[in-house]
Amino acid sequence: RAYNFNAGPAALPLAVLERAQAEFVDFRDSGMSIMEMSHRGAIYESVHNEAQERLLSLLGNPKGYKVLFMQGGASTQFAMIPMNFISAGQVGSYVMTGSWADKAFKEAKLAGGAHVAATSADKKFLAIPELSTITAADNAAYLHVTSNETIEGTQYAEFPDSGSIPLIADMSSDILSRSFDVNQFGLIYAGAQKNLGPSGVTVVIAKEELIAESPSTIPTILRYDTHYKNNSLYNTPPSYSIYMVNEVLKWIEEQGGLAGIEAKNRDKAGLLYNHIDGSDGFFRGVAEPSSRSIMNVTFRMQSEDLEKQFVKAAELEGFVGLKGHRSVGGLRASIYNAVPYESVKALSDFMNHFQKTQG
Ligand code: PLP
Repeated sequence: RAYNFNAGPAALPLAVLERAQAEFVDFRDSGMSIMEMSHRGAIYESVHNEAQERLLSLLGNPKGYKVLFMQGGASTQFAMIPMNFISAGQVGSYVMTGSWADKAFKEAKLAGGAHVAATSADKKFLAIPELSTITAADNAAYLHVTSNETIEGTQYAEFPDSGSIPLIADMSSDILSRSFDVNQFGLIYAGAQKNLGPSGVTVVIAKEELIAESPSTIPTILRYDTHYKNNSLYNTPPSYSIYMVNEVLKWIEEQGGLAGIEAKNRDKAGLLYNHIDGSDGFFRGVAEPSSRSIMNVTFRMQSEDLEKQFVKAAELEGFVGLKGHRSVGGLRASIYNAVPYESVKALSDFMNHFQKTQG
């Protein structure tokens, strides 16, 4: 298999792919694949419910939370959040940390009203703002954060206190990568395609009181209460993707849950950042050290030309996905949960080799 550092869709655990392959054609002696089954049947529904329960269990079974499986990616959540939560005269308060926070903010502007609670624009979005500088507007319906900026390679070490309003987080690129307290949040959302499974399903974890009743003026499919009241079976769910999420969640349990996976992720990120920092400037970390992401390691070399040569040489050795996002350039190694330590070690060895031959 390739050394896969893609930013998303991203690597899946080999054990999960193999298990899914073994039951691909005939799921639990039903004579059909799970993707050929009715989503109203007992077999599919048991997988659907199991995935919700497993996710809450990994998060410590917080009281009063519901898991929703939705479609349209995190990008649809950008629009649904303001549509569902901002009433007349209110705004959503957003912490501007980079490219994805900006996309969420722009949707709130269209669908209600948006306020900047803090920004790291002055640092070119290469740091997370100090928590003490984050202030929601007086008329804010919620405070929105992007827990990990996939493109810039920054991540919150701790989350701000949103006081009496709900804290909402886009965790698309770091959900289930580390332990955190769900009770701090009113709503968390994530496209599955980085840490949870294949693309096609978006996971929402929300306080039930927030999603039990939505404004009746918005389209049915875009209301949280539609999905809440119908256990995410209002319309046909992306059943195969949800099945795969359940398999990935089983795998996370086998890694020792969130504490186990966090230790592995910190080892991987530590190896790479130490390599970068110890390379005498041949490689240079992009994000401020205190805001560095353990999921997306962004770095640069002395010239774009050298970066191009690096990516090309790496590809020849089986390393995939190391080019930085087209909007910022440079290099990026996405080391999500499913990327094994061995792949990161192989990359570090390759970087060493490249430096010796070029430096
Ligand atoms: N938010 C973050 C932090 C992301 O990294 C991405 C995709 O890379 C998105 C949102 C958009 O997700 P989707 O493509 O599922 O709409």
